[in-house]
Amino acid sequence: MAGKRTTYDLILRGGRVIDPSKRIDGVRDVAVKDGKIAALAPSLDGAPAKKRINVAGKLVLPGLIDAHAHVYEYVTGPFGIDPELPGIRSGVTTLVDQGTANAFTFAGFRKFVVERATANVYSFISIYSAGALYGYMNAGVVSPHLIDTDVVIETVRANRDVIHGIKVQAEAGTFSHWGADTFALAHKAARTAGVPLYVHLGHIFPKKKGASVDPRAIIKTVVPQLEAGDIIAHPFSPDPGCFAGADGKVYPEIRAAIARGVGIDVGRGSAFSYRTARAVLDQGIVPDTLGIDLHGLNIRPGYFLNSRKRFIAAGIAKTVPAAARRGDPAAEPENNVAFTMAHVMTAMRALGLDLDRVVRMTTVNAARMIGRERQHGSLALGRAADVTVLERETGRWTLRDLHGNAIDADERLMPCFVLKDGVRYASDLRVDPRYEEPAPLRAAAE
Ligand SMILES: [Zn+2]
Repeated sequence: MAGKRTTYDLILRGGRVIDPSKRIDGVRDVAVKDGKIAALAPSLDGAPAKKRINVAGKLVLPGLIDAHAHVYEYVTGPFGIDPELPGIRSGVTTLVDQGTANAFTFAGFRKFVVERATANVYSFISIYSAGALYGYMNAGVVSPHLIDTDVVIETVRANRDVIHGIKVQAEAGTFSHWGADTFALAHKAARTAGVPLYVHLGHIFPKKKGASVDPRAIIKTVVPQLEAGDIIAHPFSPDPGCFAGADGKVYPEIRAAIARGVGIDVGRGSAFSYRTARAVLDQGIVPDTLGIDLHGLNIRPGYFLNSRKRFIAAGIAKTVPAAARRGDPAAEPENNVAFTMAHVMTAMRALGLDLDRVVRMTTVNAARMIGRERQHGSLALGRAADVTVLERETGRWTLRDLHGNAIDADERLMPCFVLKDGVRYASDLRVDPRYEEPAPLRAAAE
């Protein structure tokens, strides 16, 4: 091209670029100008640039997208966390909050979270008027009597730049009190507003005293009502209200939903078992997106003990480990209590998914889930320069879950830094079960 040569603001030099949206997997230089992706080529060595960063040997990916976050801090008590934790500091440039905000509290979510967070934040708003108030620890707050579908629909319509869908739980607690009423209201609101549903499967809310609910019946009621574009979460949970029963076989309703185009999000959280993951993957079911589901209750000491008790009450686990009974935070296996995007990507690799697939789950697939594949999840020229740089280490690590299962990993992914709109930030969040107070966001070291 004739005329003055462009001087780039920054070139990431020599990294392995994986961008499934463009079918790229190879060594490329990535140039940024004015906060946008300006060039992508095998070598930009001759091009003028204000700054070059050598990322040889590292993975350079479109800015990662966490499809399941809980970032309405303070308003939801101990539950919501600082968006910088699962976001920039975990190597993630786009977060999808899953039902932490609701119609009545959405204005605050926009003002204090969406507008302030460094990462892009989108939302599936909760059908419950209380959202995820106090981490759903009180069944009363999710009562259908408090749900106002008109306000939910109005809020969705007025905030389509942020809200992409409605979150609901289809699980034994709400079913024991009100049958399928809450799900029916969420379904109606989503269909009327023309947005997808994100459906959490697996027991979560307190059950009505003495009530018994067949988790299989919940699946049979709810899953056939889901359509292409809706999402079901927690495929790797051993809870019989999720993907498979005691025999480990994936329910036919789930298979039929996937065939219709219903998406699957991992929703790692505590509802995750390596054993179930193995069984589900071996039946040919691979999730579409990789929600991390990090929240205040699973990064605070004591959570392991409490959730273990919950699993025992639900008949999913049998014992509380002695160290956990003593309340020793060091007894909480590191991968259970705090897990970040890179750890869950590592877990998917250890389970045998290839790297391209894992990157696809965290980029283009997740962008599609929120209807923003033209905006996020790709290094296409002219896009906002949202880029994630990861380190890929080889060695031997043991990954554990809350259910006593462990698998070996011979590769570990660790976040290095991100570019958000071309600005570089350190991604320094490391696993630490005693982690409580977030450090302030800081510029990356030169
Ligand atoms: Zn969640």
